[in-house]
Amino acid sequence: MDVITAPSPNFDARPPATPIDILVLHYTGMETGAAAVAHLCDPTAKVSAHYTVDEDGTIYAHVPEDCRAWHAGVSYWAGVRDINARSIGIEIVNPGHEFGYRSFPSAQIAAVTHLAKGIVGRHGIANARVLGHSDVAPGRKIDPGELFPWGALALSGVGLWPQTRKAKLSVAFEEGLRAFGYGLGPDVDAPAKSVIGAFQRHFRPSKIDGVADKECQAILAALLTEIDFAP
Ligand SMILES: [Zn+2]
Repeated sequence: MDVITAPSPNFDARPPATPIDILVLHYTGMETGAAAVAHLCDPTAKVSAHYTVDEDGTIYAHVPEDCRAWHAGVSYWAGVRDINARSIGIEIVNPGHEFGYRSFPSAQIAAVTHLAKGIVGRHGIANARVLGHSDVAPGRKIDPGELFPWGALALSGVGLWPQTRKAKLSVAFEEGLRAFGYGLGPDVDAPAKSVIGAFQRHFRPSKIDGVADKECQAILAALLTEIDFAP
């Protein structure tokens, strides 16, 4: 894998004694990869990520992993808010919903998978904490979006994917979402419908309507079981 160093000035120190225990995937949402890399390295933009992965699989390294990159913004997961403090962020080049959202080429996904595997291994990040920006900022962000192949990534050993559609949820859907890590109500300042939509965008991308139907319930039940059995 080609890794090109493209240093960004947009980072600071992680707070003391903060574990690196979340991986956040984004899309760039800009017309070209070059524009996205330039933006992430622009001192006036005040945004960054640790890495950008271009559509041809080229990896750009912007910020050292032990430093805090500025990619998640206002966010929440499993009781914590400063997601940047404890995460690694990967920007995946794609024009996004604003400029012509399209599928992620296989060379790009291979590079993301390779990069993510290394990160998860180095820091011991749990599969249930490999997340999309939309998961940690529902109602505000929808990247990397419903075309991102989370299932394939999970097959490669990175991230969680429901192994069955037959599990039965023993709690109310919103309670289950919260147990999984999603923020609700004041946690995220977004209506429950947006949070359910974020869940669907990640785990049931064929229908994103914010309605917790039977299939969503079964998927959430399966995911919760997988967390329980995780090492
Ligand atoms: Zn993002």
